[in-house]
Parts: sequence; C-alpha cells; structure tokens
Amino acid sequence: MAHVGVVVVGSLNVDLHLWLERHPLPGETLLAGGGTLSPGGKGANQACAAALAGAPTAMLGAVGSDDSRHTALRLLSEAGVDIDHVLQLPGPTGLAVVSVASDGENTVVVVSGANAQVSVQHAEQWAALIRAADIVVSQGEIPAEVTERVARMVQGRWLLNLAPVIDLAPDVIRRADPLVVNEHEAEAVLRQLGAEAAGPEALVAALRDQGVASVVLTLGAQGALVARDAGVARVGTPHVRAVDTVGAGDAFVGALAARLSEGVDLVAAAEYAARFAAYTVQFEGAQSSYPAPGTPLPELT
Ligand code: AMP
Repeated sequence: MAHVGVVVVGSLNVDLHLWLERHPLPGETLLAGGGTLSPGGKGANQACAAALAGAPTAMLGAVGSDDSRHTALRLLSEAGVDIDHVLQLPGPTGLAVVSVASDGENTVVVVSGANAQVSVQHAEQWAALIRAADIVVSQGEIPAEVTERVARMVQGRWLLNLAPVIDLAPDVIRRADPLVVNEHEAEAVLRQLGAEAAGPEALVAALRDQGVASVVLTLGAQGALVARDAGVARVGTPHVRAVDTVGAGDAFVGALAARLSEGVDLVAAAEYAARFAAYTVQFEGAQSSYPAPGTPLPELT
C-alpha cells in the first residue's frame, strides 16, 4: 500500500451556494443575487485542504448514485486526493444549502444523503487504510457509531473536529489528539463530558481537565488557542479582507492534519493552518477557495 499521511473519514456533499443581500425572515421569499453548485462536505473539504497542503491524502466516505456525485468528487481528484475507496451508494449525494449574506454571515442547511448510510461495516472494509495512516481525521457529519469504530481502529494520531457536535462516547472524545472545535462546539462537548466552562481559556482548560490529550479552539478572526501538555499557546491569524468564511474551519483542519502527519509540533502546525485558512476567507466557496500548492500564504501578524 502506498504511504498515506492523512486519511479523512467523513462527509462528501454538493454545496448549493446562494448569494443574498440579507438572510430571509421566516415566511419571506427573497431573490438571490446568484447561485453556484460546488463540491463540499466537511470531510471532503478537509481532505482537499490536506492534499493541497502537501500531504498524501485518502478520502473515505460515500457519495450517492445521482449525477451530483461527480460534482462532489471533482476538486478532490484535482487536488490529488485518493478517492478510490469512496463508496457509491444508492440514493442521493449529500447536499448543503449555504446562504451567504452581503455582510459575510452564512447559514448552512445539510441533507445528509449517502453520508448517513456510511456504516460500521464500511469502516471495517477501510480498516487497513485507517490503521496505516499517520493521522486520521473525523468530523460529525457521518453516523456516530462509525466515528466511534474508526477512533478505536486508529494506530497513528486521531484528529477529531467535532462539528457538528454529535453524541460520542466520552472515552472516544478523550482519544482526540487534537480535538478541534470552535467556542460553541467546545461548550457542547464539555457538557457531554459532564462539565461546564465559559470563555476560551476556561474552555480549553476544562477540556484538558476532562482528559482530552490536546485541544485546538478556533476563534475566527482572533486565531486559535492550542492546549497540550506543554501548556496553552495563543496562535494568531493573518489580517485579511474576509469575503466568505465558508470552509475556513475545514481548511484549517486539513492543513493542520497535513503538518501533524509530518511530525510538526501542534503550535507550529496550527500557525501554518491559520495562514492557510486565512488565505481561503478572501475568496468565495469552500474547496474552490483553497490555495494551490506553492501559492504564497498571508503572514501571521
Ligand atoms: P473558524 O472556524 O471560523 O474559527 O476559523 C478557523 C480558522 O480560520 C481560524 O482559527 C483562523 O485562523 C482562520 N480564519 C477564520 N476567519 C478568519 C478571518 N476573518 N480572518 C483571518 N483568519 C480567519
């Protein structure tokens, strides 16, 4: 088997992006300024970012049997992600309706489609790849029991981006190294672990107290907090003009995984991930906004 640095086990979607002046109120009909179909899904976005950040990367997940599957896979193969093990299951490919208002605020509605049909049996089929990876990356867009099974198979490092937050067994959450979450997700994960905290520093401290090996708390334009045995470090992010932040968190996770797969330390990997993610917020779309290899990234300020 060829060496695989990063294995992403997660969702593949087609994103329907709607460009709006403002978000509609309940019961209101608005005309959109435009609409585009593009590849998305947290898993696929992260795999795309990891490959573009230079790591040999494989995607494990499922698309449907409809024509959308071609759109879902298009940029992954262009980025060099191994998609040979992506399943094609009967029914629709996952669909996300992403509405972006002129102030940059977005809302996302997801129809899971094939992502909801990924099963523990599929995870067993993928076991050899999962075991061989330097780092395995999971999110919350496929069934929880699959992610739990994957976590227990990993022999390298396991990165859990628990977005959206789904119920996972506490001992599984504690295996995350790192757990990557934003502030809202951190609060929800902490509740699952039976604890509570408010504010970024208290949240990462409480997650570590609960036994999570390492935590990266992403803070949008404020960067991130990194907590591990050596203590808590604040990581900045470049100042850029934000046009569309959809997929920035996924870009961060994929780029972080790429550097971690090479043995880079967590803080340096997060600094690289912040530069990679900041690049993407300057352009529309998720995968389509990710930098090609060799593109100069904005510097940390
Ligand atoms: P988020 O998921 O919104 O917390 O974003 C993930 C990462 O992307 C952050 O930790 C930042 O490094 C980067 N990022 C997100 N939004 C911005 C922004 N407006 N300006 C610069 N960097 C950003």
